[in-house]
Amino acid sequence: MHSEISPDAHFPMEEMCDSAVKKGLREIAFTDHYEFYVNGVTKPYFNEAYIEDYFLALKKCQKRFEGQLVVKSGMEFGQLYINPEINNAVVARYPFDFVLGSVHKLENIDLTQLIITEKNAESVGDAYYYHLLELSEEGDFDCLAHIDYFKKHCAKQGLADLHEKYESIIRKVLENIINRGKGIEINTACMGEILEDTMPGLPILKLYKELGGSIITVGSDSHRPERVGYGFDEVYQKLKEAGFDSISVFKNRKNKQQPI
Ligand SMILES: [Zn+2]
Repeated sequence: MHSEISPDAHFPMEEMCDSAVKKGLREIAFTDHYEFYVNGVTKPYFNEAYIEDYFLALKKCQKRFEGQLVVKSGMEFGQLYINPEINNAVVARYPFDFVLGSVHKLENIDLTQLIITEKNAESVGDAYYYHLLELSEEGDFDCLAHIDYFKKHCAKQGLADLHEKYESIIRKVLENIINRGKGIEINTACMGEILEDTMPGLPILKLYKELGGSIITVGSDSHRPERVGYGFDEVYQKLKEAGFDSISVFKNRKNKQQPI
């Protein structure tokens, strides 16, 4: 989940943790955003000081919730496939428990700022999945975040997500993930809001299982306290339906399976 460290979230870690404790969670990870850009573009806030501020806030929070809630370190890195050697080195420099890899941007434009229409849906989808494939080949992450994120932005405009068109590329992405010993995340950010589905949904979960995938973390991707742990009961049902009997928890970037 995210804290006020992320440019798009506004709640301190403590408030997010309070909510996690109230909801009976035993362990959480803060995966605040860190984005990479093309064409030499940089942002004043995504730098070393940002990550240091993150760890300072996290340590305070870990101390405050000691014995009550396990608070793990993490980051959600966007666009690691841009200059992978340089960007992967940023990831490796810090003692994260868990790292998510995402595609949020196409040519520096965030998907949240792109309006998908019937006319541009295919070209946006092509670009999204092209970058997802690149990320699956080169990024230094533990789990690939919200694989079918494109569908969220289609749903916002009431459009179909063209799932069939991208089935073969999704299969290749999952094969890369499995071959590289990495995993995927099941994300509940859309549920009860934009669409009643997880990212990814059941067909991709089943395909992942069929291909031999086993590493899967559960994330609310919450940016607000009330969304912490949202939809997790449904997630566990869905995972069982797809054939999984355990989920993954990470520490020092090492995975441990935990029965559902
Ligand atoms: Zn994300």
